[in-house]
Amino acid sequence: MTQFPPPSDRRPAGLATTPFPLPPNATIGLVGGGQLGRMSALAAARLGYRCHILTREPGSPATQVAAGVTISDYSDPASLRAFAAAVDVISFEFENVSAEGLDLLASLKPVRPSPDVLRISQDRVAEKQFLNAAGVATAPWAAVDSLDALYDAARRIGLPAVLKTTRYGYDGKGQARLHAEADLAPAFAALAPKPLIFEGFVDFACEISAVVARGADGATSCFDPMENRHRDGILDLTLAPARVPEATAAAAREIAIRIADALNLIGVLAVEMFVDRTGRLLANEIAPRPHNSGHWTIDACPASQFELHIRAVAGLPLLPATRHADAVMRNLVGPDGLALWPAVVAAPGLIPHLYGKADARPGRKMGHVTRLFPRGSLPGEFGIAAALGPAAPAPDAQDPGERG
Ligand code: AMP
Repeated sequence: MTQFPPPSDRRPAGLATTPFPLPPNATIGLVGGGQLGRMSALAAARLGYRCHILTREPGSPATQVAAGVTISDYSDPASLRAFAAAVDVISFEFENVSAEGLDLLASLKPVRPSPDVLRISQDRVAEKQFLNAAGVATAPWAAVDSLDALYDAARRIGLPAVLKTTRYGYDGKGQARLHAEADLAPAFAALAPKPLIFEGFVDFACEISAVVARGADGATSCFDPMENRHRDGILDLTLAPARVPEATAAAAREIAIRIADALNLIGVLAVEMFVDRTGRLLANEIAPRPHNSGHWTIDACPASQFELHIRAVAGLPLLPATRHADAVMRNLVGPDGLALWPAVVAAPGLIPHLYGKADARPGRKMGHVTRLFPRGSLPGEFGIAAALGPAAPAPDAQDPGERG
C-alpha cells in the first residue's frame, strides 16, 4: 500500500463522529479511481470538499484530480483502515468491494450509500429479488446453478433469453445470448462455475434510465429519464430527455424514487429500464452511484448527478434535478473514440470531456462529448449525426429513431 498525503502530514483527524452536513474542507473518501470518481471529485471540489481515492491503479483518472490517494487492493484490511483514517465519510464509484471490506469500512466511518445497498446491486439475483419485492417489474428470471436448472429455466421462461453471471458483469461482459436449445450447454460451459441468472429476452422498443438522488432526510430529486443506445454492449449514445410519452417518463421517475426509498438510499442511484413494445417498463439493473447515462447533466443542469451525489453524501440540501437544456452525450470508446479527440476539441458546440487514461484499449471509455439543445428541440437521428459532427455515431450503429 502507498498513501498520499502520508499520515504524518495530514491535518489532525476529525471528530470521532462525522458531523453532517460536512463542513468545508472535509474529506470524502471515494472507493474506485475511474472516471465516475474523477467527475465526483471535481464536483466535490467546487463545493469546497477534498476527495481521497482508494484505487489499485496509480495515476488512474480520479487520482489526477484528488487531494489524497491510497493505492492498494480493495480487500486488504490494513489499507482499508488507513483509507478510512484519512477521510470523514466514504462513498463509491466502484461497487465490487468484498462484504468483509464493506463491513470493515462501515465500522470505521459513515458509508453512503450503506453496504446493504451495495450488496444488493452487486448480485443480479439479489437485485431482481429486491426489485420484484418492491413491486418493480423485471424480465422473467431464474437463478441457475446447474445445467439442469438452465434447461428447466428455458422450459419455464422460454427462449430467446440471456444468461448472465450474477456478479462482476458490466458493459455486456459475462453474458451469453440464448436463441435455441443448442445454445444452452455451450453458454453454460462458457460462464459456469460462476453463479448465473437466466433472463427472458425483452423485445424492447428502447432502453431508458433514470437517475435519482436521495438525501439522509428522505428527500429525492430525479432527473427526467434518458434514452440509451448501446454498441458492442457498451453505452454509445444518450439522449436527454428520452423520447417517450410523458406518462412513461413519469412512471420511470416513480420507479427510480420507489427503489431509492426502498433501499433507504443516501446518494445517487441509476435505474436502467427497458420500454417494451406495449410501453411497459421493466427494470434491468440498478447502480447506486452516478451513471454513464447521466454524464450530460454536468453540462445541461444547474446541479449535475455528481453534484447531487456529493450533496447527498455530505448531507447538504439536495437541489431539484432540473435541466436548462436538452442534450446528446456520446462516449468516446477505445482507440477509435480517442482518435476523434483532435476533431472533437476543434468542433464548436461540442463539450469535450477526457478522463486522463493513458492506454486506449478497445472497449475502454476514454471520454465523452456532450451537445446541448434548447429544451424541447432535441433533433431526430439525422440531426443528431449532423450536430455531433466528428463524434457522430458510425453509420452502422443502430438508429434509435427506428426503435419504436
Ligand atoms: P446489462 O449488463 O444487464 O446492463 O446488459 C447489457 C445490455 O444487454 C443491456 O443494456 C441490453 O441492451 C442487453 N440486455 C441485457 N439483458 C437483456 C434482456 N433480458 N433482454 C434484452 N436485452 C438485454
